[in-house]
Amino acid sequence: MAGRWTTIGIIAAVALMLGGMPPARGQARTAASSFPVATDIRLAGDEHATRLVMDVTTTIGIRAFTLADPYRVVVDIPQTVFQLPAKAGETGRGLIKAYRYGLVMAGGSRIVIDVTKPVRIEKATVLEARGGEPARLVLDLSATDREAFMRHLALDRTALRASQSPSPPVASQDARSRDPRPLIVIDPGHGGPDTGTKAGGGDILEKNVVLDFAITLRDQLEKSGRYRVVLTRTDDTFIPLIERVKFARQRQAELFISVHADALPKSEGDVQGATIYTLSDTASDAEAARLAEAENRSDAIAGIDLTKEPDDVADILLDLAHRETKTFSHAFARLLVGEMKSSVRLHKKPLKSAGFVVLKAPDVPSVLIELGYMTNRQDLKLLTSEAWRAKAAGTMVKAVEQFFRTRLAGVDAAARQR
Ligand code: ZN
Repeated sequence: MAGRWTTIGIIAAVALMLGGMPPARGQARTAASSFPVATDIRLAGDEHATRLVMDVTTTIGIRAFTLADPYRVVVDIPQTVFQLPAKAGETGRGLIKAYRYGLVMAGGSRIVIDVTKPVRIEKATVLEARGGEPARLVLDLSATDREAFMRHLALDRTALRASQSPSPPVASQDARSRDPRPLIVIDPGHGGPDTGTKAGGGDILEKNVVLDFAITLRDQLEKSGRYRVVLTRTDDTFIPLIERVKFARQRQAELFISVHADALPKSEGDVQGATIYTLSDTASDAEAARLAEAENRSDAIAGIDLTKEPDDVADILLDLAHRETKTFSHAFARLLVGEMKSSVRLHKKPLKSAGFVVLKAPDVPSVLIELGYMTNRQDLKLLTSEAWRAKAAGTMVKAVEQFFRTRLAGVDAAARQR
């Protein structure tokens, strides 16, 4: 199960985003007001033909393509400010089941549409403003069969491979030689079109809660002066799961902390508290398995192609380095529980494991922390409180300090033996 989710053609998807997007990288840094603004979105039609229309303040470039298993239509556009009704996308019509939208990279936004069956993109275009009407993005979908759908998909892929470019190298060696302090990567989950769990009637989103927490944790770790700290994202951008893993590996991070907040349907009872997860092939219990599956769905939600076979991460679990990494990951998870239990409410069984894609770096000790349950009233109150964030981050800093103290002590002991 875990292996199935691993590599998933993310490089291809990212290359596609880079290749298919008219504006240059770094445009995100220009004033927000210079971005096109989506002001309304409407659906029309039935289960044979469905139209999506989005009003935009200016004409924009568009690239639409389909993805299989699950059937999705992805619309890539330049970075856009979405000023759409709060519940836009939650209910569909005709061939469209639901959709979401958001930033997937600096300069690039994306609309990801879940469709009810195989579809064909009849039209994907942007009409100029005319006669008092704003510019409009128009997407026409018609029902088709799986065979025709897959044929089109294959054509799309061929075009995609032709436009692929290698990812830029990371100057990790340079950074390391300049600054010998250990590097900690903090990974706020989700982002962009992938909101994660929602609470408070859809107003409180996991992607924002975990980003706020990650920033607090980073600031506290940096204050100690002992570590270099980097976040996988510092704004509301989606990052594919494998890219998060690569981010830590390329920079030779010595610790990776993925930050999330969980949710449970009411039927499961009112569970609360933080849980620390490490990687394992078999989940420690049914809840851990459910959670890993939900978190691993992130790429599908953001319109990443899941049908391509894993390549570079598939064999990672066989890597010898992994055994040592696993020991360190577990050690850090236990330190976290030990430090946090005094002042932060923990789940009744706070140490668990499952097949989280984001924890698969063979050479970077990695844990995923679910800060609490957004579905639990008390947890939600804590999760959105600055005071709680500061306190919880403070206990995590203590665990990090212990972790590196013992690691360094271990290195010294090994050196003395030589
Ligand atoms: Zn999450």
